[in-house]
Amino acid sequence: MNALHEVRVVRPATIDEAARALAENGAQALAGGTDLLPNLRRGLGAPRALVDLTAVDGLGSLTVQADGSLRAGAAVTLATLAADAAVRAGWPALAVAAGLVAGPTHREAATLGGNLCQDTRCVFYNQSEWWRAGNGYCLKYLGSQCHVVVKSDRCYATYHGDVAPALIVLDAVAEVAGPGGPRTLPLAALFVEDGAQRLALQPGEWLTAVLVPPAAGWRADYAKARVRDAVDFALAGAAVALRRDRNRDGDRLAGLRVAITGTNSAPLAVATAGLVGRAWNADAAAALAQSVQASANVLATTVAPVKYRRRMLQALVRRLVDELWARG
Ligand code: FAD
Ligand code: SF4
Repeated sequence: MNALHEVRVVRPATIDEAARALAENGAQALAGGTDLLPNLRRGLGAPRALVDLTAVDGLGSLTVQADGSLRAGAAVTLATLAADAAVRAGWPALAVAAGLVAGPTHREAATLGGNLCQDTRCVFYNQSEWWRAGNGYCLKYLGSQCHVVVKSDRCYATYHGDVAPALIVLDAVAEVAGPGGPRTLPLAALFVEDGAQRLALQPGEWLTAVLVPPAAGWRADYAKARVRDAVDFALAGAAVALRRDRNRDGDRLAGLRVAITGTNSAPLAVATAGLVGRAWNADAAAALAQSVQASANVLATTVAPVKYRRRMLQALVRRLVDELWARG
């Protein structure tokens, strides 16, 4: 890796100060730095200013609100999310997903906001400057051609964040600040399926918090497959939330949400509406597998073979639904 390029670092103390600093041309948010700093040291991006969000008042707070929902500031660390007693009791899928990110030392510094807004990845992109220069760079940064889908005019780099799919199935909402004032949007709408653009944020906008409603009868979990269990990105990951309704008229899925990561340029919710009201059996599992296949667009963007990642994704989803159904 190279030394970091010369860059101004500012450390705002309030949300307003941070918003002003991030509205400046060439400014980029810096949280734990575990994704951004290695990328910058590989020459992937050259912001003029880094706006360190970790000292912003209130951004590190994690509270259960009067209505039973969870409010997690963007600078809450993943170690906190994974260990917090209220999160583990009320939203265990979120604690599990946060606890499966990278390794323990990363999670001490890494934040919720940085995890959600992390860059997409590709074997042709996460390389040293000289390696990428030797291959003519690529469409995502400095080049003109994609090496994965050669005639493509868009980048297919993959989103590998673990926390987003858990938050999507928990029906979370993202809180954003920016030049146009604060706004909220469903967590899934924070992302766009384009490996270069990746986030649906306007210039100067940034994530301030995530709101998660009370579980209200939903059971949820997250699982991932990775090369090294101690510290690695998901080759495929899945979150499932499920409500089972057992009464004298039958035994059915009263609700099912599935979200996937590690396969596409965004974490995606899988269509499940056709399964609600049905029993969870072999026919339902086959229908869900088809739906997962229709959503996942696994390409050669990681070191693991495409076929392996497709099959792992199916296995993870099936296992999670089986387990949550059995627990329900
Ligand atoms: P930063 O690096 O500070 O920022 C990441 C990106 O988000 C930057 O583009 C930054 O500008 C932007 N950003 C930060 N905060 C905000 C905000 N509030 N609003 C808008 N944009 C913001 N990630 C996983 O999900 N799963 C893994 O298993 C995993 N394994 C890893 C293994 C290794 C060896 C390494 C080096 C990284 C790994 N990561 C993994 C990536 C990274 O460590 C995590 O995603 C981490 O949570 C990023 O958080 P951060 O606070 O360090 O973000
Ligand atoms: Fe580059 Fe194509 Fe990989 Fe995107 S998918 S990072 S454009 S090689």
